[in-house]
Amino acid sequence: MCKITIAIDGYSSTGKSTVAKHLAKDLGYVYVDTGAMYRAVTLYALRMGYFGESEKNVAALVADLPKINLKFVFNESVGYSEIYLNDENVEKEIRTLQVSAYVSPVAEIQAVRVKLVEMQQEMGKEKGIVMDGRDIGTVVFPDADMKVFMTASTQARATRRYRELLDRGEEVTYQEVLENVESRDYIDSNREFSPLRKAADAIEFDNSDLGLQDQFERLHGYALRLIEERKKFK
Ligand code: C5P
Repeated sequence: MCKITIAIDGYSSTGKSTVAKHLAKDLGYVYVDTGAMYRAVTLYALRMGYFGESEKNVAALVADLPKINLKFVFNESVGYSEIYLNDENVEKEIRTLQVSAYVSPVAEIQAVRVKLVEMQQEMGKEKGIVMDGRDIGTVVFPDADMKVFMTASTQARATRRYRELLDRGEEVTYQEVLENVESRDYIDSNREFSPLRKAADAIEFDNSDLGLQDQFERLHGYALRLIEERKKFK
């Protein structure tokens, strides 16, 4: 079977992972949430006290990078892979607003990016992968067969993330979530290394007013067309 590489990038809380998971499941592909990897490194930094309100010890975190072991393990009961930090399942802990508040400063560190990008390229070398993040179509897989850049209004994104956090029982205000989404977008788009950019050959996909099923159907149709095309040229 002809397998392709699908890169889905975009701003925070655009629903990239929901549609990416769905696509991967339907195509029988591996799904990789690269945001989870940056979040797990951030959780490590917070637990070690390297990052905090008045702390930003980049050197200590960089020195510890060889000790940070990340892996994804498929969980059949939920139907997707969960992230493990040094053999501990941290899928829930990495989604808190506290981790969200520090993840973009951690993701700015070049050594962190070099380590994670290398792992991501290794995971995708056989193709048959759907990977979502901020630099997948530009840096991780610049030759990806299908590139999508997801956008949505800031309010639509903050509302989605706010509901998700409330569902998980976190005590947050809409204002806090909105500020976090805006601040991550700013840092992610303006950082020195691999800033968030739409790849020149990515299709832009604004899902502010689209339900999940619509989003899935459009991107799934696009993926199937590309797979058919690739078959012809094989
Ligand atoms: O996708 P998610 O919102 O969980 O990502 C969390 C953060 O991780 C982003 O705001 C960004 O700072 C960082 N990230 C990144 N590059 C990626 C994926 C995520 O810098 N490929």
